[in-house]
Formats: sequence, structure tokens, C-alpha cells
Amino acid sequence: MSPLLDVRDLRVEFATRHGTVTALDGVSLRLEPGETLGVVGESGCGKSITALAIMGLIPMPPGRIAGGSIRLDGEELIGAPERRLRQLRGRDIGMIFQEPMTSLNPVFRVGDQIAEAILLHQDVSRDEARRRALDLLRTVGVPDPGQRIDAYPHELSGGLRQRVMIAIAISCQPRLLIADEPTTALDVTVQAQIFDLIRDIQDRLGVAVILITHDMGAIAEMADRVAVMYAGRVVEEGPADAILDSPAHPYTRGLIGCIPAIDPALAALDRLPPLAEIPGVVPPLHLLGQGCAFADRCIEAVDICRKVAPPLTGRGHAVACHLHAAAAASEES
Ligand code: SF4
Repeated sequence: MSPLLDVRDLRVEFATRHGTVTALDGVSLRLEPGETLGVVGESGCGKSITALAIMGLIPMPPGRIAGGSIRLDGEELIGAPERRLRQLRGRDIGMIFQEPMTSLNPVFRVGDQIAEAILLHQDVSRDEARRRALDLLRTVGVPDPGQRIDAYPHELSGGLRQRVMIAIAISCQPRLLIADEPTTALDVTVQAQIFDLIRDIQDRLGVAVILITHDMGAIAEMADRVAVMYAGRVVEEGPADAILDSPAHPYTRGLIGCIPAIDPALAALDRLPPLAEIPGVVPPLHLLGQGCAFADRCIEAVDICRKVAPPLTGRGHAVACHLHAAAAASEES
């Protein structure tokens, strides 16, 4: 059976003042119906570019899809006419953005914005679209939806605005929901509510979810499978349990090491250990050399790491690291 989403060897370039940079370099991802794929990595690793490419929203120019394939239910999206992509966006692929205030139109009532999304893709009357908008506000847990349907975005809290965004994203019952850092702008308790809501919607609608985040805690809660991205490449990919329990790439280990482990006894004594950190920052794309992009931050780097970029190898749980490949090879022999 073919997957719902099959991204293969995707390459995206941008023309910049430093010349052409490769923002995505051979990214491959698969997503089955109803599954949650967590895409994790620091800012600048290519997570959001991947989402924009799937939605057909890479700004061209300066961007360019330089190679690869993106298939939704077998249909190739790269090169598809803009009219077809517009049909798919909103109807088959819903997107929840980081900051609802920049995605909602401040001068329209939220109910009208949800109804507009429905009218764009479904042959229903304005009255029916409003009735469905009201149902959607109920579904996403907006209290007092009869009143809130006529509110403007600035009259709602950040959490309620994100619920409205989710209502728009699911208004046409998409097959794929892309949530790009959906809780970044929210406080911790509201973050948990939004993740609960996304999970609840997934159970009810059977929608597949791509959850883009830098938060490994959210990945542990939500994801079936995980793709770890670094500098435009997938560096580790596999079942969430395998990656969280036995991370094989030094970058993944670093990300997991950054999750605070709170021991109540030590906390009471004010003696919690210092948080781990990954030294340095993601290198600018125009400065990437031939070797492993993580080499300058990797305490395990050896000579070959600076000369040759490691390929992603392994079935089921795949890793792009020379040391891991050497260890796996010696285990096999
Ligand atoms: Fe570190 Fe080398 Fe592995 Fe890259 S290939 S993650 S530098 S050990």
C-alpha cells in the first residue's frame, strides 16, 4: 500500500546574496494515514521549509525545487498547476502555523474566517458555512462559541486564537495536518491543551499529522515516528520509541539531553543538575562544507567527518553518522 505522503530526495535551493544555498538536501519522509510524524531540530534546520514545500508554498523566486518528489496519495505535487495546489491546500492538507495572530486576518471576525475556508472548498450556502463554523468552534473547545464566533482575533487569548486556527485547518476534514510549532507562542499549560486537542482531533478524524517542533518532550507525547533534521538534511529517522530510547546520532542525543529531568527531591534541595546544551549554533547554509554539517559541534567527530558527508543508512531506524555506520558494520561482521 502506498503511503499517504511520500517525500523523496527533496532538494530546495534559495538564491541569496551569498549565492545559491541548499536549504533541503535530499530529504525523504513517509507518512501513513492516521500516523503522527514528528519533525524535530533547531531553528534553521529545514523543518518549516519542508512543510512549505509540501504545501507548495516555497516562494519562487528566490526559492526553487531543485529535485525530488512529493506525492500525496500517489499524486505528484511538484510541478502540479497552482490551481490544483490551491484545491489541495485547506481541503486535503491543513496547516496550523506558529503564531495565529499573523495567520488570522485582524479585520475579519473569526467565524467569517472559518466560514470562508469552508466556502472556498465546499459547495454550501453562507448560512450552512456559518453553522459549520459554529460546530467547529465547539469541536476545538472554544467556550461560549455562539458569542465567540463574532469576535475579532484581538479579542481572543493566544490559546483561543490557536484553537480558531485549528478549526480552520480541519474545516474541510483534511487527510494531512501540518502543525508547524503550534504552541511556540503559548504558555505551558495552554501548550498541553493544544497538544491534547490535536491528538483528540486525530483520533476523531483519523487525520495524519506532521508535528514540527524543537521540543523533544512534545515529540515523546505525540509522535509515532520521528525525523531529526539538521542543516537541511534528515540525520536520524525511525519509530519514536527507538529514537527516544536509543538515539544514535550525536545531534539527537544532544537534543534529548536538553530536556530537563526534574527530580523532586533534588529540586526541593535546590540542587538540580545544570541543563545540558549542544555547543555552538546551526551553521549558516552558505558556509556548509563537504563533510558532516554537525562536525563543528560534535564532540565525537573524527577526520572523515570533516571530509565526507555521511549518508542516511539503516532500515527502520536510519542514521547519518560515520561513527554509527562503523559501529553497525562491526556489529554485523
Ligand atoms: Fe559527529 Fe562525525 Fe557522526 Fe557527524 S558523522 S555526527 S561529526 S561523529
